[in-house]
Amino acid sequence: MKILISNDDGYQAPGIVALYEALKGLADVEVVAPEHNNSAKSNALTLHSPLYVHTAPNGFRYVNGTPADCVHIALTGLLGYRPDLVVSGINNGANMGDDTIYSGTVGAAMEGYLFGIPAIAFSQTEKGWAHLDVAAEKAAQLVQQLLPASAEAARRHEPWLLNVNMPCRPASEFKGFKVARLGRRHAAESVITQVNPRGDTMYWIGAAGPAKDEAEGTDFHATQQGYATITPLQIDLTDHDRLAYWAPTAAQLSGAMK
Ligand code: MN
Repeated sequence: MKILISNDDGYQAPGIVALYEALKGLADVEVVAPEHNNSAKSNALTLHSPLYVHTAPNGFRYVNGTPADCVHIALTGLLGYRPDLVVSGINNGANMGDDTIYSGTVGAAMEGYLFGIPAIAFSQTEKGWAHLDVAAEKAAQLVQQLLPASAEAARRHEPWLLNVNMPCRPASEFKGFKVARLGRRHAAESVITQVNPRGDTMYWIGAAGPAKDEAEGTDFHATQQGYATITPLQIDLTDHDRLAYWAPTAAQLSGAMK
């Protein structure tokens, strides 16, 4: 079995090192990850500047690009084989609710999914790497359980995409895994402005908003209770329920243009 690991926090982040150490006994594991922190880069690809791949002393390969670049390059030529699973993380902080839209951790996993390979994005719900060893151990348990089915799904090009968030708790307080839907967040905090030494105004993106929908059944709710959440994701953003609603608008415009 072969597993490709990436992340968005960069190849030196404690989360990817812990994940690699936890998974290396389960399969042939290779790391291709961003050189620098690429959090919130979503699925971005670098199209207008060259990408370079270097190998760190520990064997991890790093790229001067985004999480999606890393997985894309790995799967389209760098690896020379097709992995049975793509794993991303463990991210420094939650990727729950709306976070998944922006998340580079999810973006890296999604790139694997887009190439027909099952993929899992792992995140800890709080920044700071508290109880990272527990999160890595639980991630390995999940991967071990899913790996045979993942290999079969990869062969058939019938991938799935899982978003996993793990509470930062000691093993004794870890309640287990729960399937959960994404919650929702309030809009992000205001942009923060500062003046640089040359008198120019700098804008810093504000923090993510607090949870708005944290009802039972959501990732927010279950992780607060001490569970790790598994959320199966899909990519089709079409609002299928609203196709009929917008049809007259298109028809009207088409008629007007005749
Ligand atoms: Mn990150």
